[in-house]
Amino acid sequence: MFGFLKKKLKEGIEKITGKVEEKQEEIAIQKVEEVISQAPEEPEEEEIFSIQPEKEEKPKKGLLAKLKKKITEKIIKEEDIKDVIWDLQVALIESDVAVEVAEKICNDLKKNLVGKSIKKKEIENVVKDSLKDSILEIMKIDSLDLIEKIKEKKEKPFSVVFLGFNGSGKSTTIAKIGNLLKQNNISCVFAAADSWRAAAIEQLEEHGENLKIKVIKQKYGADPAAIVWDSIAYAKAHNIDVVLADTAGRSHANVNLMDELKKICRVNKTDLKILVVDALTGNDVVDQTKLFDSAVGTDALILTKADVYDKGGAILSAMHTIKKPILFLGTGQNYKDIEQFEPEKIVQSLLA
Ligand code: GDP
Repeated sequence: MFGFLKKKLKEGIEKITGKVEEKQEEIAIQKVEEVISQAPEEPEEEEIFSIQPEKEEKPKKGLLAKLKKKITEKIIKEEDIKDVIWDLQVALIESDVAVEVAEKICNDLKKNLVGKSIKKKEIENVVKDSLKDSILEIMKIDSLDLIEKIKEKKEKPFSVVFLGFNGSGKSTTIAKIGNLLKQNNISCVFAAADSWRAAAIEQLEEHGENLKIKVIKQKYGADPAAIVWDSIAYAKAHNIDVVLADTAGRSHANVNLMDELKKICRVNKTDLKILVVDALTGNDVVDQTKLFDSAVGTDALILTKADVYDKGGAILSAMHTIKKPILFLGTGQNYKDIEQFEPEKIVQSLLA
């Protein structure tokens, strides 16, 4: 998963480490030369007339101490690493990391290197740790445990609305979550509230049949808010714990669509709005998350197709954009292909 970003980070770490090492050596040599050039050619007068042999050692000792000090004073300057840091920034952007996020990561790294004197064997770790801390900081958003959240609600059902463009993997994700809830002994129904596409209703029905989960639907073109309303009523009547609602996601930015989604959530007092985003859309992830978040509001994200998305950067971009947690990663087309999102695990694997 995210092999491209991993490769780019590895290359960046190697390049920056190499450059810092090279520059520090260069600086050390310069400093030594500087000290030597400043050293007195002739022994000072007092030494000439000194009859104490140990006194003759003095200037040498002073020079050695000075040299030693200068060698350890290998302070790295911004211009020494400017080009390699820039290369890393470009590599991050190529991996779908949004420009401002890439800038943040590189600025943090600069701060951790410039003006510092780092022991040769520690350079790589300093670079790695800086990247790790920056990425974790971006992902450091209060996490949300879906199962806990469902259990916390006293009055049943807990209602979840899934938002996202067509093809993002919404209905597949709803099915995966339905399966996960079943495994946790939590009952649910699906609400087929994408009434704009007959195929969407059929698709959800198919998932429902496969998983033995009831699907509440109305006829094609029916009011989606009413379908969710019916589903909640059904759940109440049958003591069902959760309602998972599919919604429409026409691919063009459509004000009516956003109004319709807002209405579904307002009328039904939705407990959780989850935005489903296809990681393969890369940089578009940022625009999509902004669009849905500002129009409808979102509580959390699910990023699908992580199994076939190599670049990786969309995760950081999405989280940085709306500062909402990623609940899960979709990792395949089967119902079990869903993984809890764990920032530490992801960062470890990216910088392994
Ligand atoms: P919807 O239009 O948003 O409901 O999208 P669908 O659920 O129909 O998914 C669109 C396509 O993406 C289908 O072919 C799914 O099998 C596929 N898909 C969904 N999630 C994943 C995932 O995590 N990984 C992979 N590889 N494919 C996925």
